[in-house]
Amino acid sequence: MAEKATSKNKTPTAPKALFDILEKMELKVQSDKDFVTRAYELARKAHRGQKRYSGEPYLNHVVCTALYLAKIGMGPTIVSAGLLHDTLEDSDITHEQIAQATSEEVANLVEGVTKLGHVRYHGMQRHTESLRKLFAATSQDVRVMLIKLADRLHNAHTLEFVPREDKRSRIAHETLEIYAPIADRLGMGVMKREIEDAVFPFAYPEEYKRTKQIFKEMGGEELKRLEHIHNNLRKKLGEYGVKKFRTMSRIKGLYSLYRKLERKNWDSAQINDIWALRIIVPTVSDCYTVLGIVHSEWRPLYGRLKDYIAAPKPNGYRSIHTTVHTGENDNIEIQIRTEEMHKEAQWGVASHFTYKEATTRGNHSRGGAMSWIRQFIPARIWMESQGHTENGENTYSNAETPEWLKNIGDPKLSSNSDPKAFLQDIKSDFFNFRVFVFTPRGDVIDLPINASPIDFAYAIHSEIGNHMSGAKVNGKLASLDTPLKNGDVVEITTSPKSHPTQKWLSLAKTSLAKRHIKAYLTPQGSHQTDS
Ligand code: MN
Repeated sequence: MAEKATSKNKTPTAPKALFDILEKMELKVQSDKDFVTRAYELARKAHRGQKRYSGEPYLNHVVCTALYLAKIGMGPTIVSAGLLHDTLEDSDITHEQIAQATSEEVANLVEGVTKLGHVRYHGMQRHTESLRKLFAATSQDVRVMLIKLADRLHNAHTLEFVPREDKRSRIAHETLEIYAPIADRLGMGVMKREIEDAVFPFAYPEEYKRTKQIFKEMGGEELKRLEHIHNNLRKKLGEYGVKKFRTMSRIKGLYSLYRKLERKNWDSAQINDIWALRIIVPTVSDCYTVLGIVHSEWRPLYGRLKDYIAAPKPNGYRSIHTTVHTGENDNIEIQIRTEEMHKEAQWGVASHFTYKEATTRGNHSRGGAMSWIRQFIPARIWMESQGHTENGENTYSNAETPEWLKNIGDPKLSSNSDPKAFLQDIKSDFFNFRVFVFTPRGDVIDLPINASPIDFAYAIHSEIGNHMSGAKVNGKLASLDTPLKNGDVVEITTSPKSHPTQKWLSLAKTSLAKRHIKAYLTPQGSHQTDS
């Protein structure tokens, strides 16, 4: 993730591309450099004479894929698999040749990526099937998906060269409907945004133009205002004695802005978060201190405070979000998080595979492999797995808790267990806590095991939950206590007259649904808006 330039040790004979990869990886050990070099040479041999639609040598594509993996901190195995990811599919190179030049692990990763290559987006009816396949493959080894996403990102960036409009459009939709949600599920915020914005113009050309125009109109003024608030914020933090912090602004991705505009009927006045300010501080308690300062300086907007530190998103995302009133008609969203949360929010699951951490993992200086995965599991799931329950209700029975999760936190087990076996468990069980269900439109909703249609309805929108009258699962009427299974397509019917009842509380599994039901059942219940 660090991008330090080290121009020493330049190998004059090595081609520039290989040099760039090695430089970005900051490899210290010669055998690691040799390993990646052998992967590069094999890829060069495999793709000799092949060209991309752009007319560039095919090798450029696999080099860009590998460079991205290097940029996000991946080590020799993943980067090498990135270099070789198209060899099984597009050349005579065999599994054995890859294993011989690099390792069996690299060959297996390339094989995994090759299998994913056959998943295609064929319109809505076959969409869920593709997604299910992808999730199944990902659950075997998350690293395969990291490589596939890096591959897809470069294809997205070079989509303009693909001949035929219909093909460009299909690839763009496939990227938005299948790959972006997976990047999101893996917590890779930066990846999700990059691939979405790269294909947005090809998937929805008209909407893209309209969104860009709105962005431009809102952009100029916003930027000036932002600068002003940014300076003010830094000054205030200083006045309150907060010394260690850094701030930055973040711009909403165009595709994400488009989705929000659609939800708000294209009323740009309702969009508060084109720009947001981020404050990054050393510890969790600093986050709350800063939140206090922000709220004492600027009036927070009702219902807009979201504490994803206390209650992380299902993909592990942690941060505090609040929207504050900064004068006249101006509101701004402020996001507060620690460095570690920031890293995870950008790179998600990849932030736990970083090469530099892997090399220090052996000495258990930070609790070893156990601690990083422990951090990645949302706190709520973690507590439930340990027998702690929220409001006395248990969502997961102990029988459903995977072995590896039960053992986390046991110091004897975590220092003695074989990290390799552990990683294997993680890779296969990672997705077993959650079920992925689909809206009739094919959007993925990620819920805890045994979630009910009530949880599904509230996960879509609080108003849908509050007016739910019935549910169909896979086209058939289903009772509200039906446990949802992976791959179910769920349709919610609503009626203005339907409202939550006390019984719903016992059927709901997610704290989100429970919170909304309780708020509804309480006479002076708060009616917060979701965004
Ligand atoms: Mn490729």
